[in-house]
Amino acid sequence: MAITNIEQLNGYIELSEDEKAWREDGENTLPILIPERIAAMLSNPAIRRQFVPSAKENEDTVGTLDPQEERENSHTERLVHRYRNRAAFLVTDRCFAYCRHCFRRRFTGKMIGEASEGEIREAAAYIKEHREIREVLLTGGDMFTLSDSHIRRMLSIFKSECPSVIFRLCTRAVAVCPERFTAGLFAAIKENQKGAPFYLMTQFNHPDELTDDAAKAVSGFLDLGIPAFNQTVLLSGVNDDEKTLIELSEKLLLNRIKPYYLFQGDLVKGTRHLRVPIERGLEIEKNIRAELSGLGMPQYTIDLPEGGGKVILTHSYLIGKEGGSYVFETPEGKIRHYPDVSTRG
Ligand code: SF4
Repeated sequence: MAITNIEQLNGYIELSEDEKAWREDGENTLPILIPERIAAMLSNPAIRRQFVPSAKENEDTVGTLDPQEERENSHTERLVHRYRNRAAFLVTDRCFAYCRHCFRRRFTGKMIGEASEGEIREAAAYIKEHREIREVLLTGGDMFTLSDSHIRRMLSIFKSECPSVIFRLCTRAVAVCPERFTAGLFAAIKENQKGAPFYLMTQFNHPDELTDDAAKAVSGFLDLGIPAFNQTVLLSGVNDDEKTLIELSEKLLLNRIKPYYLFQGDLVKGTRHLRVPIERGLEIEKNIRAELSGLGMPQYTIDLPEGGGKVILTHSYLIGKEGGSYVFETPEGKIRHYPDVSTRG
């Protein structure tokens, strides 16, 4: 049985004073929802920190509920059109587990429910009309909390109205509820694979989340020809060390999932204690790049506040220019010169 409140959680594991002192906090409240599978893993500090709330959420005065200004960029309550060629459709506010670092606290777990057919049709019409939209993220919340029949219907509407648009299926469920990925669900997806491809976007933040069951759920998509990409959130006390991130990348690759993004935490109210200083993030980025192949290396990325968009954060290996050459530092810290082509011949 899932854990849904702090008293129940306190009876299940011994909470710290900070954890015990967490309280609901108006619109900044992200509900507690810890499914049995995750509850069984709470002795693992990296899992515990992602799902057990803390009073530090209540003490955060820095962030806002909508740092990306999604509301200002929403065509409807559920359709966010923030980038010219991409849009996000918020299928539902429900998830199988609520992650304390969730960047969409303004929406997630607010008992809004799933999109109606009218809302799906309205979004599809908008996407069809705005031909500059090439990709749509089906997100929320977690789209796989919907029933198979609702998923089939939604995909069928989007695919018949916007056959040339790529849809990203965004989910954390493969990690927290892999049993959801049944033959019936894959049949609903398969029926709607006409037109532009689907891409699966997973969120694994720690190698221990990538269990055999999770890998099996992802392989169901891969077997349908749907490529899988992973988005990790850099989280203090969860994965802010090189060893963990290297292990995660290697495990993802072994399971045919491309490590795609390593996100700097957004300035979301209630998540300050989970954010990692950018200096440390850059140090980690440099160190893991020295160990990982290009295939295994995620892009360390920050989504700038006030709807500024995503930019890549990376250590610069170009130190400067000396005479007719660019001067580079190698990942091992050695110096190499690259002649400026304009000085040749
Ligand atoms: S699954 Fe995604 S939307 Fe749901 S709480 Fe976690 S991060 Fe937020």
